Amino acid sequence: MSKRDYYQVLSVARNASEDEIKKAYRRLAMKHHPDRNPGDAEAEEKFKEAKEAYEVLTDAKKRAAYDQFGHAGLDAARGGGPGFNPADAFGDIFGDVFGDIFGGGRRGGRSGPFRGADLRYELGLDLEQAVFGTTAEIEFPTVVDCATCAGSGAAPGHSPTSCGTCGGAGQVRVSQGFFTVQQTCPRCKGRGTIITQPCKTCSGQGRTRETRRLSVKVPAGVDTGDRIRLPGEGESGRQGGPRGDLYVEIAVREHPIFEREGSHLSCEVPIGFATAALGGSVEVPTLDGHVTLKIPAETQSGRVFRLREKGVRPVRGGPTGDLFCRVVVETPVDLTDEQKDLLRQFQESLTGDAPRHNPRERSFLEGVKRFFENIGS
Ligand SMILES: [Zn+2]
Ligand SMILES: [Zn+2]
Repeated sequence: MSKRDYYQVLSVARNASEDEIKKAYRRLAMKHHPDRNPGDAEAEEKFKEAKEAYEVLTDAKKRAAYDQFGHAGLDAARGGGPGFNPADAFGDIFGDVFGDIFGGGRRGGRSGPFRGADLRYELGLDLEQAVFGTTAEIEFPTVVDCATCAGSGAAPGHSPTSCGTCGGAGQVRVSQGFFTVQQTCPRCKGRGTIITQPCKTCSGQGRTRETRRLSVKVPAGVDTGDRIRLPGEGESGRQGGPRGDLYVEIAVREHPIFEREGSHLSCEVPIGFATAALGGSVEVPTLDGHVTLKIPAETQSGRVFRLREKGVRPVRGGPTGDLFCRVVVETPVDLTDEQKDLLRQFQESLTGDAPRHNPRERSFLEGVKRFFENIGS
């Protein structure tokens, strides 16, 4: 399961105070609370994500571990076996950073290598960028191999040496009465190696926090919820483990004109009532320029015109979608006396023959009449 950076989840700075974190959390919790968004799986996910970030960042020990080790530090603690107490592990973290936390619960073998944690980055795009594709520059905090020691944790000119206590096996045999049991080596904590001269840059951890910048190619046709996997761009692994992956998750922003549903687009087109009655043509926008839409005579408000293949070409292939234009007849406003007079004359011209010109109004009135007759009987 990939994760977003906790600070990004709460939209707070890395040095945010506990108060700021609480405030940010309260705001998100109110917005995404399941009671306020019944049946909305996305809101529920966001709510859980914010809660998790809040719980880690308001716990001083967990926050320190997260700042230093990223998600991997917390994942290892969570994955601990029975009786494994994450609080103890975090208490340990500065005393002995290579303690059992990264091999929590793992017995019977050397700890590691450990794959780096996967990261998630939410990338907001305009509709045009999503439809036509784009290259996005993203910036995200992550954990990388220390540049000074190349991840070994040993000071330059030194290298981790094989642990003398266990002979590099990471395990020692201990006699307990009749039994001989294997235990994690107490000296090297299962790593099999000892660092005598720790690297100063990373205090012997082999990892440092860094803000990475990446150029992400977004293919044309992506939609909200699509994920782009960038293998090996997640947090760096430990003890020779591979890097995690980065998942860039697309979130398309609302567009002022178009609504999108899969490969189809829709928009509302206002037309004057003279055009609606007499017919004519209107310019309608598409994502690649204007097109002319013919409005036939006697067009009613709400009628939908379909412009084929003016929608979105889906990223996974398949037919290009259509653009649905829903015309809305606009009632004229701010009329002059002369214009009002013309309308009154027009209205009078219908008198006596109105049912023929307004068939919907007639059938509506007849329906209303029947409705009240039925109630009365
Ligand atoms: Zn280092
Ligand atoms: Zn050892």
